[in-house]
Amino acid sequence: NQMNTWVKVDEYISERLIPYDSVLEQVLSANQQAGLPPYDVTPSQGKLLNLLAQMKGAKRILEIGTLGGYSTIWLARALPSDGQLVTLELDPVHAQVAQANISLAQLSGIVELRVGEALDQLAQMESEGVEPFDFILIDADKPNNPNYLKWALHLSYPGTVIIGDNVIREGEVINENSQDPRVKGVRTFYDLLADEPKITATAIQTVGSKGYDGFVLGIVNS
Ligand code: SAM
Repeated sequence: NQMNTWVKVDEYISERLIPYDSVLEQVLSANQQAGLPPYDVTPSQGKLLNLLAQMKGAKRILEIGTLGGYSTIWLARALPSDGQLVTLELDPVHAQVAQANISLAQLSGIVELRVGEALDQLAQMESEGVEPFDFILIDADKPNNPNYLKWALHLSYPGTVIIGDNVIREGEVINENSQDPRVKGVRTFYDLLADEPKITATAIQTVGSKGYDGFVLGIVNS
């Protein structure tokens, strides 16, 4: 069946284009052992994030939604040694596992993990006078996507890349009667993107080992 083919092709891509990486393997098994939900990006998506951050020449990355730090590590590896990645996580257990994984990947020096409600952390960062980010990944609780987009725009400058994950939801995104708060959040996210003159965006549908989903990719306008 179809899903089976997507998984096999994803494996084929990974086997050819993503060299075996013992750190990333250890990270995934640490996440599993700690009972974290398997919501990390796939290896091919992690590498895509890494490549996009490199294409942007990103020095400052913001990630909303750390989980076990799998995507964090892919992204942080795109940074120069004087770069910085700030990642936000609500769940203290996820954060603890992520911190250990980031340290295993020897990235503690450039990754700052902030624990708490992302919206609170973002407000606190603003009051601390945080510098704008070059690259922002929105991948936390989907009902808050509209709020995260507003913050992302606030902490950006013309040219900042903004990515939002899980915006297709097996196609449920087109169900205007959906009562699923995640679908509703994602639909409001699209509405904001459509009305927001500060950003130019598109969305890409994806299939693979995590099923049928997709991401929004945008750039802040000058
Ligand atoms: N980016 C991760 C990766 O690919 O490895 C996956 C992130 S997972 C989809 C979403 C994460 O957001 C979870 O760890 C969850 O605990 C966290 N989260 C949920 N609500 C949050 C909130 N209000 N503030 C901060 N983090 C939140």
